[in-house]
This record gives sequence, structure tokens and C-alpha cells, in this order.
Amino acid sequence: MAVPQRRTSKTRRDKRRTHFKLEVPGMVKCDHCGELKLSHRVCKVCGTYKAREIIKQ
Ligand SMILES: [Zn+2]
Repeated sequence: MAVPQRRTSKTRRDKRRTHFKLEVPGMVKCDHCGELKLSHRVCKVCGTYKAREIIKQ
């Protein structure tokens, strides 16, 4: 069985973890209602996209 040759230092371990705390950073403010929404998606709160395109009413 493979066993690590030396202990991972705190610095090395924490540096590795800097990558996976950032989850889905594609959040922007909706220009219609100001809520956070995924960019390039229709806003769930007000149902708009690109200032006017109203999907649901
Ligand atoms: Zn909105």
C-alpha cells in the first residue's frame, strides 16, 4: 500500500485548499431587481434577461 513519504506541511495543505473553497463564482447582480443571479442565465427572481426579455409573468 502506498504511504506518503513525508507529512504534508500546514502551508502545503492549506495552499492546496485555497482552490476548492471557491464555488461557482459566476454570480452577478441582476440589473432589474438587484438580486444575485448566475451570469448568462435568466434571473429567477424577476424572470428577466438582458434588461427586458421577460420569460414568466
Ligand atoms: Zn432580477
